Amino acid sequence: MINIIYTHRFLQHDTGFGHPERPERLKACVDGIKKSPHQDQLRWIEPRSASPVELKLVHSSAHVLNVRNTAERGGYSMDADTPVSPESYDIALRSTGAWLDGVDRIIQHKESSFILSRPPGHHAEADQAMGFCLFNNCAIAANYAIQVKGIQRVAVLDWDVHHGNGTQHILELDPNMAYCSLHQWPYYPGTGAEYETGDHQNVLNIPLTMGSGKNEYYSAFDKKVLPFLKSWEPELLIISAGFDASQNDPLGGMQLLPEHFAEFTRYCLELTPHLLVGLEGGYDLNDLAACSRAVAEVLIEHER
Ligand SMILES: [Zn+2]
Repeated sequence: MINIIYTHRFLQHDTGFGHPERPERLKACVDGIKKSPHQDQLRWIEPRSASPVELKLVHSSAHVLNVRNTAERGGYSMDADTPVSPESYDIALRSTGAWLDGVDRIIQHKESSFILSRPPGHHAEADQAMGFCLFNNCAIAANYAIQVKGIQRVAVLDWDVHHGNGTQHILELDPNMAYCSLHQWPYYPGTGAEYETGDHQNVLNIPLTMGSGKNEYYSAFDKKVLPFLKSWEPELLIISAGFDASQNDPLGGMQLLPEHFAEFTRYCLELTPHLLVGLEGGYDLNDLAACSRAVAEVLIEHER
């Protein structure tokens, strides 16, 4: 079975009119996955909420309090493009909780999970919300796996079109964690240069020029991503799966198709039998639906 970790509560994080990170994104992913012919292989799970203590595996107390207070005061923008609505703190706890549930499902049940949650996380820094992200779901999941669950080595692969500055900055401090990102360059948020290799040679950044597609990505996987991840021998591999490098995405400038994200997923399943795949960005509704379905079908096919 493959777990799809999702709750309709995620639709209630209100970013305001015209914001690209909108509830319809998740509806598109859900609808896409529901079109898969293998519904009997999917287990839909309502996520728990992360606790403030779990958030503080990564975030400063001041940041957690700041998000909570901002939401309680009725909402506000945490930075130029990161709005918070009154419900957002509680929903963000669930969004992180969904990733932690994904860690539990892998460790306790040896099952892959696909997390469809929002707000996303990979731009959130230890002490700062940023780029539509409040808490860094992925970095918290990695730290939870190591500090709470006793996993020895974790690797994160981030194929969102944007560099995951927050995830890198948190993970690079820990010699038991590795971070690898493929992203459009130069582009938001400005980090992710090739020379950023981490405090423990545990970071691999692969900046790609605008317009890159199948050839550039497959070549990067073959020559760089897979050798790096293989040499790291992670017990747990987490994918920060943004779909904004897809062909029609309004924010990204890349040329990927659903079948390419499916192939990336197959590559990762050669490294480890189970995956935690979590949604980050992706802003074209049709592409989100098709890419989510394609990735889910690879996970199902592998589990069968
Ligand atoms: Zn993105």
